[in-house]
Amino acid sequence: MMEMHAYRCTECGELHHPRHLVCRTCGNTEFTEEQLEGKATVLTWTKVYNLPEGYMKPYLCFAIVRFEETGLIVSVQIDDEKPFIGEEATSAVGVVKEGVGKDYYGFIVEPSAV
Ligand SMILES: [Zn+2]
Repeated sequence: MMEMHAYRCTECGELHHPRHLVCRTCGNTEFTEEQLEGKATVLTWTKVYNLPEGYMKPYLCFAIVRFEETGLIVSVQIDDEKPFIGEEATSAVGVVKEGVGKDYYGFIVEPSAV
């Protein structure tokens, strides 16, 4: 089972995602993994057409979301046909790429149940 992780600097507490080798705030190189979970808010989103070869969908939706608990802002795929700014979403791990005979799992958020 895959989980969504962020990486917290052991020196200054700065959260990073994706993983950085060196803390962008203090230069430290040690991090602890923290699970990214819970509610997130959509800050902005976009539909991406002209996907690279291997995708089985005509387009994918990507969103920039901010996780409520950690305040971390990440770019994720969103499993929603019509996302909107301010939408509440929940983190999940899902199929982000439906390849030919092979699925890829990664970060994805789903609209929260209303
Ligand atoms: Zn740091």
